[in-house]
Amino acid sequence: MAPRGSKIEGSTRVVGILGDPLDHTLSPRMHNAAFRELELDYAYVPLRTTARRLKEAVRSITTLGFAGVNVTVPFKRAVMRHMDKLTDTAKAVGAVNTIHPEGNKLIGENTDAPGLTAALSAAGFRPRGKNVLVIGAGGAARAAVWALASAGAIDIIIANRTVSKAKKLAREMARRGSMIQATGLDSLEDFDLLDSRQLVVNSTPLGLKGETLEYDIDSTQPDCIHFDLAYGDKLTPFLKQASAKKRPIIDGRYMLVHQGALSFKLFTGRKAPLETMARAIGLKV
Ligand code: NAP
Repeated sequence: MAPRGSKIEGSTRVVGILGDPLDHTLSPRMHNAAFRELELDYAYVPLRTTARRLKEAVRSITTLGFAGVNVTVPFKRAVMRHMDKLTDTAKAVGAVNTIHPEGNKLIGENTDAPGLTAALSAAGFRPRGKNVLVIGAGGAARAAVWALASAGAIDIIIANRTVSKAKKLAREMARRGSMIQATGLDSLEDFDLLDSRQLVVNSTPLGLKGETLEYDIDSTQPDCIHFDLAYGDKLTPFLKQASAKKRPIIDGRYMLVHQGALSFKLFTGRKAPLETMARAIGLKV
């Protein structure tokens, strides 16, 4: 008999990822490697849907008996209204990336934020008391700003193409202890702002689309960490630029593997085999 996790049988529990597009997601590769490693009778599949059919798609999680699903671009906020319950983290971040059923109820969780904190921690970076720049103000930026503010970053600047969105995010995330300000992308050429940062997080998908971010990296300190949440099979253009300037870098796949490990525990009740998941997407931990 084939080992569990290597073959789909009638008994196999199904987990998936809801999004559109899904061609570039590394989540199926990562989770299926973990199921094989632990010999679990689970399979992880892509579940592409449209905004119009999202409600039906979400309801099918219980109808079809899924063990859970991840949610990716562009549905992380839109799925929230279809949940029976949101965890405190999902509510505070304002996005859901993991749905797991409890009986007939759907619970919306956010593992992106703790996944980002874990990736920073694994790289030896402690946000407490630090000055940070977050580029972008979408779903990934929400997780980043919330995680950084919760971990005690003292000064967070959100720079976004649409300044009104950055302002809205800054207002929503305002909390005691962190100063959160919003600016436009012209700040990416502001010497004083860049010189004072210990961490720059790119949360735009730019670069992966072949577009470039006008960014004066020379104004940052040599030890300023550059973290790109967008990821591919190789280094993104943002990280290549940082690497060429000898700045320390964190690849978005580290956040992916840590958020994935937390989701895996919710789907299976088992501790995730982190090294196996990391290796499956080309990383070492
Ligand atoms: P999103 O909600 O669509 O937000 C995209 C952000 O990028 C917005 O702030 C948008 O600015 C900005 N942007 C898009 N195109 C731009 C352009 N041409 N020029 C300047 N700014 C531009 O997407 P998201 O959910 O935040 O995801 C962003 C990236 O993070 C994706 O690549 C996603 O795969 C990645 N991500 C990775 C992980 C991980 O585990 N590593 C987790 C979550 C997300 P406007 O507001 O002006 O439109």
